[in-house]
Amino acid sequence: MPGDQCMAAKIAIYNDERGGASRSSADTQCKSFYAGKGVGDYIGALHNANVGGTVKAAFVAGTQITPSVECYVDSCQYWEKGNYCHASSIEVKGPHAAKTIDTDCQTFKAR
Ligand code: SF4
Repeated sequence: MPGDQCMAAKIAIYNDERGGASRSSADTQCKSFYAGKGVGDYIGALHNANVGGTVKAAFVAGTQITPSVECYVDSCQYWEKGNYCHASSIEVKGPHAAKTIDTDCQTFKAR
């Protein structure tokens, strides 16, 4: 999308199921990823889809705006009980992503 914004209503970040707890951003993945092929896919799916390979979600202080983030990576410094993310913004990358496993939360910081 223009400005590399994410159109999903909600972003869900998970650990890589093969590795367990994430120790680096490469171990994380965006489960909301949807491999878009055209504008119709982006609008119809309402999942993450980005042309440039980067999605960003910005939050207003104290209140998440759309898209909201649900995160299960409790080894990250930004993770909070209830599966919240308290980073001021997150960046999810997957330049040539075809599957969720190809995406990473670049904002991840190990505890
Ligand atoms: S910055 Fe950390 S807590 Fe926030 S979504 Fe990414 S991995 Fe989850």
